[in-house]
Amino acid sequence: MYRRTPFYEKVKERMMRYAGVDTQSDPNSAQTPTTGKQFDLARMLFDELLEIGASDVWLDETACVVYGKIPSAMPDGGGRPFGLVTHMDTAPDAPGANVKPWVLENYDGGDIVLNAEKGIVLSPKDFPTLLNYVGQDLILTDGTTLLGGDDKAGIAAVMTMAEHLLAHPEIPHGPVSLAFTPDEEVGGLAKDLDFERFGAKVAYTLDGDHLGFYMDETFNASLAKLTVKGRSVHPATAKGVMVNAADAVGEFLSMLPRFERPQYTAWREGFFHVISVSADVEHAEVTLIVRDHDRTQFEHREAYLRKCADALKAEYGAERVSLTILQQYRNMKEFLDPCPYLTENLIAAIRMAGIEPRTEPFRGGTDGSALSERGLPSPNLSAGYENAHGRFEYVPIPSMEKNVEILLHLCALFGNMKDE
Ligand SMILES: [Zn+2]
Repeated sequence: MYRRTPFYEKVKERMMRYAGVDTQSDPNSAQTPTTGKQFDLARMLFDELLEIGASDVWLDETACVVYGKIPSAMPDGGGRPFGLVTHMDTAPDAPGANVKPWVLENYDGGDIVLNAEKGIVLSPKDFPTLLNYVGQDLILTDGTTLLGGDDKAGIAAVMTMAEHLLAHPEIPHGPVSLAFTPDEEVGGLAKDLDFERFGAKVAYTLDGDHLGFYMDETFNASLAKLTVKGRSVHPATAKGVMVNAADAVGEFLSMLPRFERPQYTAWREGFFHVISVSADVEHAEVTLIVRDHDRTQFEHREAYLRKCADALKAEYGAERVSLTILQQYRNMKEFLDPCPYLTENLIAAIRMAGIEPRTEPFRGGTDGSALSERGLPSPNLSAGYENAHGRFEYVPIPSMEKNVEILLHLCALFGNMKDE
């Protein structure tokens, strides 16, 4: 039988309130942040940090990043500083405005009518993980929008933990830095997080589904683009004159290994993934992404693409073929290996909260992948939402309560470590 903790009302109220603020980011915007409305939540969080008594509270009015700190409560003012980073935006994949969150108490394991009028039902037949939450209270949508538990469930847990520590200076812990960032869902990679202002040299992101999951391993990632310039003439007189760019691109595609594609790979297997092709005689281009957990394999993949381009250059002329490879993010593991205590403390904190930690090599990247590469090693702790990016998203309230506990244990563990 599940029992409410003292954090129940706090995380629920916060999650409901944050969900009501439209913070959808926009992949087609070149602005920073990609949507101005993310400032609505940023200002709310800024005010809230001041209210609960955080120090060094700051809103970057350009980059839309909110900062705050919880000072050390160790008798000697020590402890090893660490930080928490959560994102404020919601995904562009489903409607994000006019979110109307509601609470279903004591879920009975049956179908949940999200919207009677429109006949929208959340069923364990479609989403069997629902059955993990029988007997719990769930925050749900009205079936027409996403919920934004990704990542507001994370923010609610962080803010509730911060409020608790600031209200109870007798609880020992070290200094904790907080940051709320924009545009995670559109590849922002927390690029404007100011490390100096943030203060901590290591951090965790709080994001992702399933309570108790953590992530310290992600893909290495790059984006490649091959373009071919052709020469179009009438087919009747084309012999020895026409250069068909579409043919060249077809050859390129045929060189990509058949079974090294997302639909044939799992776990730590890397891939090439063609995301778009456009081709006619005059001009053709292919955009693809390259992914691999293993750094050496990843570099081999990029080298293989260059070889393919070289083969086309030899056939069609070097001036007609170009390949660009853009680095996206790195596997965080490479940057976490020198500080194993980051993952160790996380695992310990999850266990101390009575949850069995689970992990698997993540087949994607996180803001933490980019932060780690830039010098702020940052594994990820799940925020505990489910069915993100869609109308069937929900957040079990106990998952947020547990995350508050996990974070409090983390703070205690870091408090007992010496500052480097
Ligand atoms: Zn997220």
